[in-house]
Amino acid sequence: MAKFYDISMTISEEMPVYKNKPEKKPVIEVVQDFDTGSARESRVCLDVHTGTHVDSPLHMLPEGGTMESLPLEPLTGTARVLDLTGVEGGISAEDLKPHHVKEGEFLLFKTRNSSQDHFDFEFIYLAEDGARYLAERKVRGVGIDALGVERSQPGHPTHKTLFRAGVIIVEGLRLAEVTEGEYFMVAAPIKLRDTEAAPARVLLFDNP
Ligand SMILES: [Zn+2]
Repeated sequence: MAKFYDISMTISEEMPVYKNKPEKKPVIEVVQDFDTGSARESRVCLDVHTGTHVDSPLHMLPEGGTMESLPLEPLTGTARVLDLTGVEGGISAEDLKPHHVKEGEFLLFKTRNSSQDHFDFEFIYLAEDGARYLAERKVRGVGIDALGVERSQPGHPTHKTLFRAGVIIVEGLRLAEVTEGEYFMVAAPIKLRDTEAAPARVLLFDNP
């Protein structure tokens, strides 16, 4: 059995949500239990951007595709974790250059966000020039250990730059247990129709 890391967030009513907005909190309801029936059944009400999730281009581009436009192939395969725990604020092109980014790579950014369990309004994000650098290098995808790949950037340039270049965005990763290096990734968004994001289970396997 190959060693693997589950780099997904646990979904619960107490989990951190973007900007701590109450309307973004999951609601998990037991609709039947053994005192009222012969089986237990629960219902979950979730924002599609809850916890670990994959965004589709429609999230930021009105002409962009829904989740069905994202094939699973680019979400499965080699991924490289970059240790960016020393970065403050936005991850810039300067921060990325020493990592020698190659065409077709799926990059996962491990930042100080991974050591925090609450929503930090000053979370580390991908700056616009960092997104441009990655789009020019034609990476396959980026993943970040924050509930958003950008924050407080008018017009959402990071999302738009990546989507326009066909770069897949995964948000809400948990990378505290994972060290820098290459892994085999399986990122499996749930199979929703007509949505602009979907929660995902993301696993990293050793020895790609
Ligand atoms: Zn999202």
